[in-house]
Amino acid sequence: MVRIALIAHDEKKPMLIEFAKKHRLYLEKMELIATGTTGKLLIEEVGLNVERMASGPLGGDQMIGAEVAKDNLDGIIFMRDPLTAQPHEPDVSALMRVCDVHEVPLATNIATAEIIIHTLAESNN
Ligand code: PGA
Repeated sequence: MVRIALIAHDEKKPMLIEFAKKHRLYLEKMELIATGTTGKLLIEEVGLNVERMASGPLGGDQMIGAEVAKDNLDGIIFMRDPLTAQPHEPDVSALMRVCDVHEVPLATNIATAEIIIHTLAESNN
């Protein structure tokens, strides 16, 4: 079963929720992990089954990075907000780096997320 992580910076959380509602049928068939607040919203507002990590600023990005390092993730959908300073920016950069080291697909905006979700859903069959 495909296992993916979902993350959204605060300004982008509504966009991720809309994305998750749109692709609910795909996401229901995948194993999902998420940073704390993002995961809570996905559970409460979309009804998905999500394993929650710590909140991003408390280390959730690093916990997801560790899953990548262990080859336990098939992809990450990360709605980043490049226009607002993030207190945990070094962790965000480290997460992107570890994805490149392990060649794990990483979507950082809605356009790449749309492309990645279809490809992952196909490989989930
Ligand atoms: P959050 O973390 O889902 O706990 O808000 C996301 C982030 O800021 O990396």
